Amino acid sequence: MEMKPNVELLCYTDEPERTVALAARLCYSAVGIAELSERISDDEVNRLLKRLLEMGHASPFEHASFTFGVEGISRVTSHQLVRHRIASYSQQSQRYVRKTKQFDYVLPPSIRRRKDARERYERLMTELHALYREFLEAGIAAEDARYILPGAAETKIVVTMNARELRHFFRQRCCTRAQWEIRKMAELMLERVSEVAPNLFADCGPPCLVGPCPEGEMSCGRVSSAPSATRKRPRAHVRR
Ligand SMILES: Cc1cc2nc3c(=O)[nH]c(=O)nc-3n(C[C@H](O)[C@H](O)[C@H](O)COP(=O)(O)OP(=O)(O)OC[C@H]3O[C@@H](n4cnc5c(N)ncnc54)[C@H](O)[C@@H]3O)c2cc1C
Repeated sequence: MEMKPNVELLCYTDEPERTVALAARLCYSAVGIAELSERISDDEVNRLLKRLLEMGHASPFEHASFTFGVEGISRVTSHQLVRHRIASYSQQSQRYVRKTKQFDYVLPPSIRRRKDARERYERLMTELHALYREFLEAGIAAEDARYILPGAAETKIVVTMNARELRHFFRQRCCTRAQWEIRKMAELMLERVSEVAPNLFADCGPPCLVGPCPEGEMSCGRVSSAPSATRKRPRAHVRR
C-alpha cells in the first residue's frame, strides 16, 4: 500500500520553554537553585528565550527534549534522518518483523504523476514482495531475505531530539532544497513542536526566510534578492 508520512509528538519535557528559560536564568542572574524554581512570568520566559537566540547561546535549548513517533516514511528517508547524530532512534526491525503481507512503500510524486512509470514501480514492489515471501517460505532468515527490500519500503521510527538539535534539523531539512520526503516529515515535526513550544521554534523553517541562504551555488534563489532583515518566516508553510 502507498504510504504518506505520519508524525505524532509522543511526549516532551514538561513546560519546555520554561525549562530552557530556567537554565538561561541561572546563567545570567545571581540566583540559587531554590529561587530558580520560583515561578517566573511568561514575559520573563520569553525575554530569556529571546536573549538566548540573540546571543546565539544555544546550549540551554538542550534541556528540552521531544519524542516523535514517525511512520509512513521510506527507508530512504529514515537513512537521511539517522545521519543526525545528536538524537536517539528506535526503528522497526526488518530482521525481527517479517513482512508476510505486501510491504507498504512510498511512491514519489514524480513517479505517481507518470502512469507508465507508476505501473512499472507498483509491479516491481509486488514482484519484490513475492520473492521475499518465497525466500521466507524456503527457510531463508528474514535478516537475509530483507536484502531485496527496496529503499521505498515503509518504516516506523521513534525519534528523540532536544530543542537545540531540532532547530538545527529544521534548518537543514525544511530548506526548499531538502529532498521532498524528509522535508515533508520535518515540516510535520515542526508543526507538532510549534503547538507546544511556539517560542522555541518561532524562527525555524527554511533558513533563507530568517537569514542568508546557506546553500551557496545550490540555492533555489527563492529569496536571493530580499535583504535578510526584512524577511519574515511565513507561517503558511506550517500546515495547521
Ligand atoms: C542539502 C543536503 C545535502 C546532503 N548531501 C549529502 C551527501 O551528498 N552525502 C552525504 O553523505 N551526506 C549528505 N548530507 C547529510 C549531511 O552531510 C549530514 O550528515 C546530515 O545533514 C546531518 O547533519 P549534521 O552533521 O550537521 O548534524 P548532526 O549530526 O545533526 O549534528 C548536529 C551538529 O553537531 C555537531 N557535530 C555532531 N557530530 C559532530 C562531530 N563528530 N564532530 C564535530 N561536530 C559534530 C555539528 O555542529 C553538527 O552540525 C546532506 C545534507 C543536506 C541537508
